Amino acid sequence: MKDRRGFLSACLGGLGLSLGACVIPSRPGPRFSPANLRARAPKASCRSRLCAGAAAIDLTPPEGVATWLAGFGFQRSRKSVRDPISARCLYLDDGEHRLALVVADLIGLLRPTVQRVRALVGEGVEVAVACTHNHQSPDTMGYWGPALMHLVPVKTGLDRGYQRVLEQRLAQVVLQAIKRAVPVQLAFARAELPKGLVKNLRHPGIYDPAIELLEARRRDGQGVATLAHFGCHAETLGDQNRALSADFPGPLRARLEAQRGGTALYANGILGGMITPDVPDDADAQARGQFLEHLAEQVATVSLAALAQARPQPIDRIRYLRAEVELASDNPLYHYVERVGLIESRQLGATGHFSTEVGRIDLGPASWALVPGEPTPQVGLRIKNTMLKAGRTHPAVISLANDELGYLLDPSEYDDPLFSYEATVSPGRDAALRLEAVLASLPV
Ligand SMILES: [Zn+2]
Repeated sequence: MKDRRGFLSACLGGLGLSLGACVIPSRPGPRFSPANLRARAPKASCRSRLCAGAAAIDLTPPEGVATWLAGFGFQRSRKSVRDPISARCLYLDDGEHRLALVVADLIGLLRPTVQRVRALVGEGVEVAVACTHNHQSPDTMGYWGPALMHLVPVKTGLDRGYQRVLEQRLAQVVLQAIKRAVPVQLAFARAELPKGLVKNLRHPGIYDPAIELLEARRRDGQGVATLAHFGCHAETLGDQNRALSADFPGPLRARLEAQRGGTALYANGILGGMITPDVPDDADAQARGQFLEHLAEQVATVSLAALAQARPQPIDRIRYLRAEVELASDNPLYHYVERVGLIESRQLGATGHFSTEVGRIDLGPASWALVPGEPTPQVGLRIKNTMLKAGRTHPAVISLANDELGYLLDPSEYDDPLFSYEATVSPGRDAALRLEAVLASLPV
């Protein structure tokens, strides 16, 4: 979430307006119909210690279908397609536990969507769905639709037809990855983000420099999947862009796939408050496009060098732990967007209580915390350090996982005027601490 400064006050002012008097732009629904996906996940067939499969599926709305682009200002309509967006799945099976991690080129997904994807996949496979926080993708949360004077959102930005297709495709990519599962070995590596690629707008120089890498290879060395993980808002193309794009994860994945084979995934990390590509604010579209390619090329270069040195690790057990968390939000924005019907209801009670979830995936030396929002470096690095202390040498915080609550701030940041914007799109002062406590309570 970004660049909706003044949103809260504008929204609250908008509560007093008569919505019936507004002229709200309308648009056609998508012209492609969802497949009738009712298939359940194929039964496990891994006869080895560890199997993995990977797949990608297109999520690009067809040309001619109007789409509100998410992440910056309201009512930013898609004019063209720069490059396609997709969802990618890494499936792992140790013969006892089956896990599918899906990462989609989207701004974020709310938990009810994730739960419907899980239901489509069916029993027996644990499914986690994260997003790259792509700011050049369709509005899949509902915030970025028609707005009065571009300030007060009055109608959801969701396209129900697209959402239905999306959920089915997210389930389909899991089933495709399962069908492709083969015996693999896993290798882990870490690289460092080269200087000059990302910046912290609030505290310059403070960010997580780690690029955590995982590769699943056949025993003959052929690549099955590569996962690259680091924290940065996927918003290189900026708020003036009107062309749908995967932003930097697109060319990054293409470079990894070209060298390592198989399917590449990018999962976002510690990106909140406010880690963003280090492109000048006044850069034009051409300069932004060039920086996007530069960022992807630089990250791919150091990642490929690290992967070339990585040796397979003996791993015969995967584990995915998750826990439901009750939070209470006193953020008026949360109540507004529910009342107006911009987003799918979280069933907020009068006290603002709602449910979300956290999780952790353990894979040998790696632990990946799954966090339902955008942690700041202060919060995210604390979570990583907890996993390091538990002996995990490749910790990662996968943000925007299984829900998107907005910014997850330390209470000191919540009270700091420097983070006044982030606080308006945060679930609350103590939300991050509560999520951290539940994460820390998961069995080691
Ligand atoms: Zn954000």
